[in-house]
Amino acid sequence: MKFLNKVGDYTKDAIQAAKYIGQGMSVTFDHMRRRPITVQYPYEKLIPSERFRGRIHFEFDKCISCEVCVRVCPINLPVVDWTFNTEMKKKELKSYSIDFGVCIFCGNCVEYCPTNALSMTEEYDLSTFDRHELNFDNVALGRMPTKVTDDPFVTPIRELAYLPKGVIEGHEVPHTARRAGQRPEEIAEAAAKAE
Ligand code: SF4
Ligand code: SF4
Repeated sequence: MKFLNKVGDYTKDAIQAAKYIGQGMSVTFDHMRRRPITVQYPYEKLIPSERFRGRIHFEFDKCISCEVCVRVCPINLPVVDWTFNTEMKKKELKSYSIDFGVCIFCGNCVEYCPTNALSMTEEYDLSTFDRHELNFDNVALGRMPTKVTDDPFVTPIRELAYLPKGVIEGHEVPHTARRAGQRPEEIAEAAAKAE
């Protein structure tokens, strides 16, 4: 009897294991019918979403050295170097820098800057061998990034979140194709009409 019970348990376990293997293999076989969604970076790049928080852009001429960006930054990161011009009776900006080796890209500085001197760009590839090389001065911060869609060496690929309904792979969708959902300006227009 004991032996028969053992055989029964063993058979139950074997059936259960076969069921789990079958479930696992069904996922594998399902993927065999699909194209790989691997992005061949850096030859291919995903188009970042509209509100992507990438490397910060700084406009020297717009900055009034108020240091609001320093106060709202969770780690007081931006370095604003200014002198007081006694003749003009106002602050004069000498240099400005942000260390992207430390920045957490929260966007607080951009949000609170009273003159919109700061903005977030779509640049995300900031890899260096030494993190201290990521301390950008006002010249480096003033450089505009190359857009993924404008770079002749890169094939832009629609990001997963913006693929048209029913499409699961971005390689087949041209980057000029309309993305899923409304664009921010369309939402703003609809909101303005509703008011
Ligand atoms: S908040 Fe804007 S204007 Fe003020 S110091 Fe920072 S970048 Fe300049
Ligand atoms: S993005 Fe955030 S962490 Fe980076 S400098 Fe601005 S406020 Fe500071």
